[in-house]
Parts: sequence; C-alpha cells; structure tokens
Amino acid sequence: MTAAEFREHGHAVVDWVADYWDRMASLPVLSQVKPGQVRAELPDVPPEAGEPFTALLADLDAIVVPGLTHWQHPGFFAYFPSSTSGPAVLAELLSAGLGVQGMLWQTSPACTELEQHVLDWLAGLLGLPERFTFAGSGGGVIQDSASSALLVVLLAALHRKSGGRARTDGVDRGRYRVYASIEAHSSLEKAARITGLGTSSVRFIETRADLSMDPEALRTAIAGDVDAGLTPVMVMATVGTTSTSAVDPVDRIGPICAEFGAWLHVDAGYAGVAAICPELRWIHRGITDYADSYATNPHKWLLTAFDCDACYVSDRAALVGALSVVPEYLRNSASESGTVVDYRDWQVPLGRRFRALKLWAVIRWYGAEGLRAHIRHSVALAQRFASWVAADDRFELMAPHPLSLVCFRLRGPDEPNRLLLQEINDSGRIYLSHTTVRDAFTLRLAIGGAATREEHVTAAWDLLSRNASELADRG
Ligand SMILES: *Cc1c(COP(=O)(O)O)cnc(C)c1O
Repeated sequence: MTAAEFREHGHAVVDWVADYWDRMASLPVLSQVKPGQVRAELPDVPPEAGEPFTALLADLDAIVVPGLTHWQHPGFFAYFPSSTSGPAVLAELLSAGLGVQGMLWQTSPACTELEQHVLDWLAGLLGLPERFTFAGSGGGVIQDSASSALLVVLLAALHRKSGGRARTDGVDRGRYRVYASIEAHSSLEKAARITGLGTSSVRFIETRADLSMDPEALRTAIAGDVDAGLTPVMVMATVGTTSTSAVDPVDRIGPICAEFGAWLHVDAGYAGVAAICPELRWIHRGITDYADSYATNPHKWLLTAFDCDACYVSDRAALVGALSVVPEYLRNSASESGTVVDYRDWQVPLGRRFRALKLWAVIRWYGAEGLRAHIRHSVALAQRFASWVAADDRFELMAPHPLSLVCFRLRGPDEPNRLLLQEINDSGRIYLSHTTVRDAFTLRLAIGGAATREEHVTAAWDLLSRNASELADRG
C-alpha cells in the first residue's frame, strides 16, 4: 500500500468508524447471529491475488457488523464497560503507524519514558502513594489486563517471599498460601495455576453483609495457616468486585498483611479509576499505608479503549528480580548503565506495544476535569436507576451501589428473573448480564460507556418494568 493509497483508505476508515458511532444506537446491541454463521460467510481459502481495500470494508458491513455485540452501544450495560473514545482510537492508529516495539528502553526511548511519565501522572490523579511512582521505589507499567497484572505481581511476591529461590527452584507448592474474598475475580485461581502454586493454595475468605472481605476471617485463616507451618505469600483485596462492586476494607486488611509478612495486592480492575474524583477517593482508603501493588483498567471505565491496565508496584526490584532474564542478544549499554527502565522485565511477553500513547491522548484530550465528569455522569445515572428500582415493590436491590453498577432482581424465585433477562436482551435494545448474590440470580446494570445518556437509562428501566409486568400477567 503506497502512502497515497493509505491516505485514501485511511480517510475512508476514519469515516467508517465515525459513521458506525453515529448509527450504533439503532443496531441490536447483542449480536443475533447463530454459532458458525460468521465463518459460513467467509471464503474457504484466502485470496490468491490482492483485493481492493473497499472489498474489505464491504464485508465489514455485510459479515462482521451483524456478528458484533456492540460494546460502545448506549444500551450496553453488561459485564463492565469497555469504553473507548475518539482520542484513544486515534492514538491506537498512531501507535500502529509508528509500529515501534518497546521491549527495551533502547528499542524506543519515547515508548518507555512516555509510559513511565503517564503512569506517574495517573498515580497522581488517583491519589496513589509516591512509592508507586518512579520518583519512589516502584513504578507503573501498562499490562494488557488486570489478570496479567496479578500474575506478574504474584511472581514478584513469590520472589520476595522465597528470598529469590522461586526463580531457580520453582515454588514449593504445599507451602505457600494466597488469600482473597469469595467474591474475588477468577484471575487469582488462574494465576495460582500458572505460577504452579495450584488452586489448592488459594484460600477464599468469607464476606460481610456488604459482600466485602471480612478482615477477622482473614486474620483467622492466616493465623491458622501460619500455625500449621504454611507461608502466607499474598492477599488480594478487591476494590470494586466484578460481581457487585463491593469494596474490601484495605485499611483493615493491610495491618494483617504487615503482621504476617504477606504482599498486599489491590485489584481495582473496574472501580479504581473512580478515585480521580475526590468524593470517590474513599475507595482507596488504606492503600497509601499498606499496598504493595495495585492495578486498575483505564480500558474499562476511563475511555481508553481495550487494552490498557495500569499496574503499579511499590518495589520495582522485586518485579524485575522475578522476571528479568538477559540473553546476549538483548544486551545493550543503556540497560547496563542501570539508568533506564526496560519494560520487558515487567511483563510476561518480551515485545510490547506503544500503549502509553492512548492513555496520554485520553488524559490530554479530556483533562482531569473531563475524566471526572465522565465518572460522575455514570455514577449519577446509576444512582438514578437504583432509586427507581428501590421505589418499585416488585424489585429489590441486592448490594450496595456506590459507583456505576446496580445489582437488582425481581423479588421471589430465580426463574422469572432468568426470563426477564432473556427477554430484554432478546429485544436488542439493551444488554445486561447477571451474577448470583447469596445464591440468588441477580441482574447487573453497569454504566460507563461514552454514549450512554439519561434517556438510555430511562429506556432501560421502562423496558425492564414493562417486561416485568408482562411476566406477572402471564403468571
Ligand atoms: C475486569 C476485572 C478483572 C479482570 O480484568 P481483565 O483486565 O480482563 O483481566 C479483574 N478484577 C476485577 C475487579 C475486574 O473488574
């Protein structure tokens, strides 16, 4: 593709995306294709001769779009948002156009230093302590996901706890324990498997009435394990659980970690970015005093386009010590000078994309005020929705809803709730997902996309309310 051709098709692609955003609200939010339908429309073999780019765009409309669930749709309320925005998309294009691979400082100094700098900015915006920045003993790194962040910090915790022996001898499976609440994200079990600790090393701690970790139960579990000769390696506290957005009491969990020498990781995948608002900063209570690591996903609620997880550690030496391997072909004078950061030592893969560009673009375009406005808008809409649920006797709220997630259900048995969810999702107008809260089937409405406005939340409530009435009429 020549530069002239790229210019022509590039303009068409930007137009395509802008048109898609304009018409998205009229598309069925949840894809209606059947399994295998998308593949059945694709040729069995790739083209022998090159094709015009316009043919690809035509198939994008004809084959791909019907097979999409539209995550940026204003009626997308499932899971958590995966919000994107103009500046994020344009910066992704720039990143791809530059095509740099930032595994070492030397392979593109700007790729590394911009990432360090923007993550220091974000630490400031979120009120994280200085030891999580490059001015302190730690620093931030962009991972693809909160799961990857957890995996690397668990390796760092094992490295530190084992005095470096985990690197050479692997982990002593029977000996180590990690802890999280029963509401914690499944990525902890995955990380336990990948590190070789195995799932039997994970202790799930009971929760309190508000679904946050019970610190007394944590203390009892750790003390019992220590008495039994086991070694607590890490506690993962969650700020905003995936199921209900419960916030674990980090200020009470922290002293227990300190007492028993366990690494404290804070998983704030969805909710952490809300701390840019002073009135929501309470979700970070205890982090400044106690956390060893912290991760939040700007790609969820902060308009940064998947993928972008901001992962912070207070002790970068532990992370680099756990992960650094230096083959001859990567040796260079900058690394050996000890004055640069080589992000390959902060993640699982060697190679890495220039993802800092999009976080930089998003922060600069919106400014801190614009980002706070986005968070506040989502929270306000969620609170309004929750007030409608609370005022309707047919429904009940199932968990505290301090942020932009509301968990609710029809009072009574599960089956009408399953039907209600199925029917509203089949309508194509909105998309919600579900969870269980104390074994009860529960609907989740999560707000945070850039396109969602009050009218869309009102329409969601009208649809839910109308379908609930019809369900009741049908008995
Ligand atoms: C979304 C989420 C995760 C996992 O996110 P990935 O980035 O997809 O790995 C982990 N923890 C919490 C609390 C989350 O909300």
